[in-house]
Amino acid sequence: MRKLSFAFLSIMVIIYSCQKSDNVNDEASVDSSIEEQGGRRCAADEVLQQQIAEDPSRAAFLNELELKTQAYKGSALEAARSAGILYVPVVVHVVLQNTALVTDDQIRSQIDVLNKDFTKTNSELSNTSVYLAGYNYNNVANCEIKYVVTNIVRKTTTVTSFGTNDAVKKTSQGGSDPVDPTTKLNMWVCDLSSGYLGYAQFPGGSAATDGVVIDYQAFGTFASYPMYAAFNLGRTATHEVGHWVNLRHIWGDRRCGDDYVGDTPQHDGSNGGCPTANHTSKCPGRPLEQWMNYMDYTDDRCMYMFSGGQKTRMDAAIDVARKAYFLTSTPTSVFK
Ligand SMILES: [Zn+2]
Repeated sequence: MRKLSFAFLSIMVIIYSCQKSDNVNDEASVDSSIEEQGGRRCAADEVLQQQIAEDPSRAAFLNELELKTQAYKGSALEAARSAGILYVPVVVHVVLQNTALVTDDQIRSQIDVLNKDFTKTNSELSNTSVYLAGYNYNNVANCEIKYVVTNIVRKTTTVTSFGTNDAVKKTSQGGSDPVDPTTKLNMWVCDLSSGYLGYAQFPGGSAATDGVVIDYQAFGTFASYPMYAAFNLGRTATHEVGHWVNLRHIWGDRRCGDDYVGDTPQHDGSNGGCPTANHTSKCPGRPLEQWMNYMDYTDDRCMYMFSGGQKTRMDAAIDVARKAYFLTSTPTSVFK
């Protein structure tokens, strides 16, 4: 739901930053069961707010990107995007005490999920009457993006678990420095602490920390070790890569917040588990909540779509801020 006028955007970002603690309280008030159940948690917004607090130019960049994003729909740039599949080279860093735990086949299973989810070929959408909370199936996005693993870096570490301070992205701190971070999507797989399944860096941040981080127990669709039962279908990566191309949480990270997308309903908070059909928002108009959207907090088996408006938002981010990562031909994969 896009409900704020562009003129208020700058003010909004500043206020938003200052109200972080209030937002957390808001979320807790509508969503305490998520934490109690040990459900999905993503630190992308917290990390972004930290970056904004440390560097005011971060907010300025995002304001500029937001203005260009809102002007993108119907523009010549958007028309030019209808050229078909774009390919993103991906560097996967496995940063564990035992890096052999995450096999090449497991990495491949994760990339397969990304490629299906971003091309509307995931199995749930083979059923054209799948529940979409009233959203038109024909408007579900084929994002026309595929991911190709060009490098796998295995880094044995003595760090037992990583926080969200980006240490996993720094060799000097027991992590693994990014590879070609201005042209490749770096994806770190590690043991994340504090119950987070992952986090991502939104466009415009430092190249040294750009990319997504996924907990190893939520990475891919199988493993030789126990995965989180609710998060073993690879959707954590789909969600985090969504952030990487500038998608926000569908509830806007606050009660009845704004995800800057025009065709998603307003949610009063995150959803966990697998809500029932006809689950409605407590926000004005009480719309049906699109809990099956990848940018909610539902279990892997219950999230299965991006909206058309989210695709437009991604395409704007690609054109404005991430063009160098998106190729029109397939890069060489490490997989046969
Ligand atoms: Zn998230």
